[in-house]
Amino acid sequence: MIRQDYNRIDPKRRSTIDYKKKQFAIPTYKQQDYPHRLNLYEVPPTAEITLEQFEQWAIDRLRILAEIEACSFRNKTPGETAAHVTPLLQQWLPLRSNTSSSAGSQDENLKLERKKDHYSHFILRLAFSSTEDLRRRFARIESALFRLRFQNDDARERQTFVESLQLDWEVVSEEEKKALGADLQNATPGLKRPDVEEGGWFKVDFETVPELVEGRRVFLKAGKAYVPVREQMSMVLAGFNARLDKGLELTARALPRLDEDDRLTPILNHLSKNFATPDSTLSDSDSALPGAPINASSIDPLSQHFPLCMRNLHLTLRKNSHLKHFGRLQYTLFLKGIGLTLEDCLIFWRQAFKLVTDDTFNKEYRYNIRHAYGDVGGDAIRRGRGYSPFSCQKILTEHPPGSGESHGCPYQHFSVENLTTLLQTTGVNDRDVLRGVKEDVEKKRFHIACNRVFEWAHKGDITRVKEDGSWGAAELDTIVHPNTYFKRSYLLKSGAAATVKGEEMNT
Ligand code: SF4
Repeated sequence: MIRQDYNRIDPKRRSTIDYKKKQFAIPTYKQQDYPHRLNLYEVPPTAEITLEQFEQWAIDRLRILAEIEACSFRNKTPGETAAHVTPLLQQWLPLRSNTSSSAGSQDENLKLERKKDHYSHFILRLAFSSTEDLRRRFARIESALFRLRFQNDDARERQTFVESLQLDWEVVSEEEKKALGADLQNATPGLKRPDVEEGGWFKVDFETVPELVEGRRVFLKAGKAYVPVREQMSMVLAGFNARLDKGLELTARALPRLDEDDRLTPILNHLSKNFATPDSTLSDSDSALPGAPINASSIDPLSQHFPLCMRNLHLTLRKNSHLKHFGRLQYTLFLKGIGLTLEDCLIFWRQAFKLVTDDTFNKEYRYNIRHAYGDVGGDAIRRGRGYSPFSCQKILTEHPPGSGESHGCPYQHFSVENLTTLLQTTGVNDRDVLRGVKEDVEKKRFHIACNRVFEWAHKGDITRVKEDGSWGAAELDTIVHPNTYFKRSYLLKSGAAATVKGEEMNT
């Protein structure tokens, strides 16, 4: 629709534009200064960055947004969310204040941090403004991120930042303050009479501060909320949200113009897909568990550490002595990812397929296993040593299982009854967990259901490693890869310290 409007207007204008001039015109860029740590993201960035920065900065921000959203899905309190996200922010999207001990206001790194924050916000705006649902989710999580940073900001710098915003707040005059003194005092919890007279007050439209109205923390009169200065955060947040909503609408309208940019469009499409379940791939060092007994005969005992998708494949294989093609592929790549060698994998499958002859196995199955490991196949496959283990995103979004197939993710592809039965078969019998899983699944938060089960099954071990400090937030972030699930479960249950974090996001 927007596209048609744009095209309808454009031909007339287009004839007046010299395309050569337009194509070769020198763009004007404006390098921005970032005097404040916080940003309301009102001015879009205009300076150049590389395509790699464009992609990597967006991915780093996306990690943070995904973790904030996962915390809210799991009903974590603001304090728990802050404790979980703060170390991740320091790792992926640091944003120091001017007075932080490691930064002076002229520090180039400080500017780079702020630039990355600024650009990554606008890149994700582009990626997430296409639908109403994405816009709403993005705005909600960005708002939570802004709140977290606002609360943690240095008090003096925060005040300078607030003063620099020209927000639409009407200051309550001294006369009105005196006239409303008793009402203000009664309607605002924790306020003493002198504060009414001495503190600053602002009048804003009541719908811009829903939190304060909902919590009965402000006096309302004639559609206005009377907000004491100490509730400044709600008003700044309301300003932030209003600007972001408007900005997302404008971006959505401008999006069709990006269609022809074949460098950015694939990146943006991949980013928005990543918003459902962040993607990840494993490197060899990520999946390695040095010293772990991983061979053909240890898969049965190790399967207690498998996520439900792989547990289901393993149980089905043991029951039927067979798996169909996609099941074999999903499971073989997972086993390869946990460190099973090709030789052991061939032994494992040969023993598991006990109803077929050697001849049939060699003819029909052997080649595909070797192909998955990159032992045979085209040069590119062999150079790359075969295919990578599937991430949750791939399992959730590609090749849904048909009748008689067992691959896929049980949280997504099973009915609630069958899922509950499978969970109980694997020892998950806590009623609260099963209820939580049911709710997650109904809201299509499949990987959150999986993380819920993981956290329940490893509750004691997670508490232990948190308390003794051997695992940090990065090692306990949301699981988005079956092999990460296995590795984390194995390390926790065997009492080992966390090794290098198990996955790298990849778009
Ligand atoms: Fe497997 Fe991922 Fe589904 Fe968990 S969420 S069962 S790891 S695909």
